[in-house]
Amino acid sequence: MENKSKVLKGKDIAQKMQLDMNVDLQKLRELNVTPMLKVVVIGNDPASESYVKMVQRRADKDGVEAEILAFDKDITEDKLCEVIKSLNEDSNVNGILIQMPLPKHIDKDKIVEIIDPQKDVDGFHLINSGKLYMGKDALYPCTAYGIVHMLEYSGIKIEGKNVVVIGRSLVVGRPVALLLLQRNATVTICHSKTVDLPNITKQADILIAAAGKKHMVKSDMVKKGAVVIDVGIHAIEGGITGDVDFDDVINVASMITPVPGGVGTTTLATLSWNTIKAALSQCK
Ligand code: NAD
Repeated sequence: MENKSKVLKGKDIAQKMQLDMNVDLQKLRELNVTPMLKVVVIGNDPASESYVKMVQRRADKDGVEAEILAFDKDITEDKLCEVIKSLNEDSNVNGILIQMPLPKHIDKDKIVEIIDPQKDVDGFHLINSGKLYMGKDALYPCTAYGIVHMLEYSGIKIEGKNVVVIGRSLVVGRPVALLLLQRNATVTICHSKTVDLPNITKQADILIAAAGKKHMVKSDMVKKGAVVIDVGIHAIEGGITGDVDFDDVINVASMITPVPGGVGTTTLATLSWNTIKAALSQCK
């Protein structure tokens, strides 16, 4: 039987984040600025299209204007570079999101590096990655920073805790590990070559599953009372599920995020957060 008090819902966190975003939105209003996010979408991948719709819905709730710029899958790299440069130069645009994956003929790294780092709301530009590495303020990757929001707005203590992150991707595992290290957690990063994963995950006070393997985390890998954050997204009939076997792990975790309705929601709220932060920093 599910214990509802244990479930960390993304929408509750997003609501709390909104209260703080409203303070910055008010400052922007006084400067006659409405934060503007441009989402660049190439091709017509149905998963991307539905994600972008969710971005727009969330942005709308959070007081951010999100506009989609859609291009044919055959757009040249040069043309895409031109589009990004013009968005960089447009002072009405505060944030630029390039929806991934890009078609194979476009060099993703080159595209990311063209974005003005001050408008890089995805936080993947080398300048923002370098600042994250150095422990400096920057635009941080939304899923990773969204997990930090999930923990902090839930009042979960991070300092001194053993955090185990499963996954070392640049999108989730690595940035979330750095953000939690900054907050004085003791962080272990596991990956596909880690030996005896359960032995390590059982040490975790906070376990973050971002391996992209459906239901790989079972209750016998989790310490009793641990906080479990599920980042995974896997399509199943009629919906999505995560990297954590929720019905099993809820029996041992003190708190656990659901999929859907967990990290996905805080990721989107953090995209609004980053856009508002970018707008404010561009007004200075
Ligand atoms: P990725 O494939 O880039 O990285 C996966 C990582 O997990 C790698 O570092 C790999 O070494 C590690 N790994 C794989 N199998 C493992 C195993 N058996 N044991 C230990 N480590 C293992 O994936 P990603 O982009 O980091 O995404 C991970 C998951 O999170 C995916 O399911 C993805 O869809 C999801 N995701 C969700 C959001 C969100 O907003 N909720 C955002 C990004 C990604």
